[in-house]
Amino acid sequence: MSGKLGAVINTGIGISAAFVVAGVAAFGLAEADHASASAPSSVVSPTPTPTPAPATAPAPQSSTSTTPSSYPTTVASGKKQLFLTFDDGPDPVWTPQVLAVLAKYDAHATFFQLGSMQAAHPGIRDQVLAAGNTIGNHSISHAQLTKLSAAKRHHEIFDGPRSSCFRPPYGAANDKVRADIKAAGMVPVLWDIDTLDWQRPGKQAIVNRILTQAHSGAVILMHDAGGDRGQTVAALDQALETLTARGYTFPAMDC
Ligand SMILES: [Zn+2]
Repeated sequence: MSGKLGAVINTGIGISAAFVVAGVAAFGLAEADHASASAPSSVVSPTPTPTPAPATAPAPQSSTSTTPSSYPTTVASGKKQLFLTFDDGPDPVWTPQVLAVLAKYDAHATFFQLGSMQAAHPGIRDQVLAAGNTIGNHSISHAQLTKLSAAKRHHEIFDGPRSSCFRPPYGAANDKVRADIKAAGMVPVLWDIDTLDWQRPGKQAIVNRILTQAHSGAVILMHDAGGDRGQTVAALDQALETLTARGYTFPAMDC
């Protein structure tokens, strides 16, 4: 695995604090998939981060160096492509709205779903797949895997949604988590562009984070559950309109 993944994952420590700040209720899901990982290239540090990192854009990077080769993202030669991802669903209210926007632009995405949400909302998973999207495993209950016993960690990873891609909740992982992901036949997938949509910063703020950081091959993190995702849906519509005009297409990851 790349050093990048290790760097990001070790920043998964201020989650509890971030969770409290976010005050999210439903399912105990912190909407923050990333308390602090908006800059995947950040230096490894165990320092707790009580609040999400500032939404500053990462340093300019070339389109070829930002996506680890381990990501199941292959940009077709000569094309400009972005990889949209939606975490924490499926949700009966928001997932269908995201699907409708994607269809409007002939776009596809990868949905990192929770086993608990799939069980609570049967049928939506099939709608996601039927529309040509792919599904990633985001664990069963959105637990912080680095804090679990071996047995519970194993259960969250191995018994979550069936996929070849795994995104640890909060981006929190360590060697044991990574070993379980690999043993389960999956690859870890984080992101390049964190929209911080779970903070509900306003539609335009989400749009701007996407547009200012977009580069071919980038993986974009958004959420289709965990609270009111109206801003996410509206921002997705506006961003896809602009990005489509810029020549981007949106394939699902091979998960
Ligand atoms: Zn999540």
